[in-house]
Amino acid sequence: MSNDGDRRDEADRTRAPEKVVVEEPEPDYPSYKVEPGDRVTLSAIDPDETEHYKKKKDVAKELEKQRRRIQHLQERLYAENERSLLIVLQAMDTGGKDGTIKHVFSGVNPQGCRVSSFKAPSTEEANHDFLWRYHKSAPARGRIGIFNRSHYEDVLVVRVKKLVPEDIWRQRYDQINAFERNLSLGGITIVKFFLHISKDEQKRRFQRRLDNPDKRWKFSSADIKERANWDAYQQAFEDALSNCSTAHAPWNVVPANKKWYRNLVVARTIAGTLEVMDPQYPPAEEGLEKVMIPD
Ligand code: AMP
Ligand code: MG
Repeated sequence: MSNDGDRRDEADRTRAPEKVVVEEPEPDYPSYKVEPGDRVTLSAIDPDETEHYKKKKDVAKELEKQRRRIQHLQERLYAENERSLLIVLQAMDTGGKDGTIKHVFSGVNPQGCRVSSFKAPSTEEANHDFLWRYHKSAPARGRIGIFNRSHYEDVLVVRVKKLVPEDIWRQRYDQINAFERNLSLGGITIVKFFLHISKDEQKRRFQRRLDNPDKRWKFSSADIKERANWDAYQQAFEDALSNCSTAHAPWNVVPANKKWYRNLVVARTIAGTLEVMDPQYPPAEEGLEKVMIPD
């Protein structure tokens, strides 16, 4: 009887992951999650926040612990081969998307993880509906997918640079919510991060790119033009964060002026999400205890 019940739960879980309500353990650190329906005002969120930590070395141990949690849980996710995790990273230029991927996922088994970076669409991509290229990159069962930029560009750069008319990008918030819900019904857990830096910090980071010959490749004079649109981008981000934070695909606004604190917050949130997913090793074949390996 109880076995039947268990099996029914399993089936439910694969069909409708967001229906599995797991009591989240109360963490002893702040949550930066945008609650569904909340209106986000970025100027009210301090990008310099670091809790009680003062320097990089104050978080080194905890970051390492969170990385190990992610590694261990990824192994279970891969072995289970039922569901997957999609991580969406968005930020202003220099916000730290690349650095976050490098520091949070170092040590994760590359076999179970894929980073997809999205640039201006190719001719082929532009000839399809805007979600086409993102859907193709959604993670397969057992995998972690990382979107370095994402479908949100189509309500960010596209809106700010007026690449399509307003009535087109306005309807995309609904399209994005429907798309993400669809992915979640297919077994993909989604977690989204906006890495929040200040305009001053962006200036410092651009300057560092110019000053360091090994970093100049990252700089483009087009970046200066984009920086002039800072306020329009902040507004576009506020709308994206406010319209598209849902129970099955929440946004997190991460204070990101301090790179080490940003890495810690992202690592914690991903580890926590994987823990709630609670992937399980599949049952071993029966009778393995009697197997003898022949010489
Ligand atoms: P980077 O990440 O510095 O290599 O730059 C990638 C560029 O591609 C950025 O300037 C983005 O704004 C741009 N980009 C990404 N997605 C889109 C999109 N859907 N439409 C237009 N431009 C995009
Ligand atoms: Mg760039």
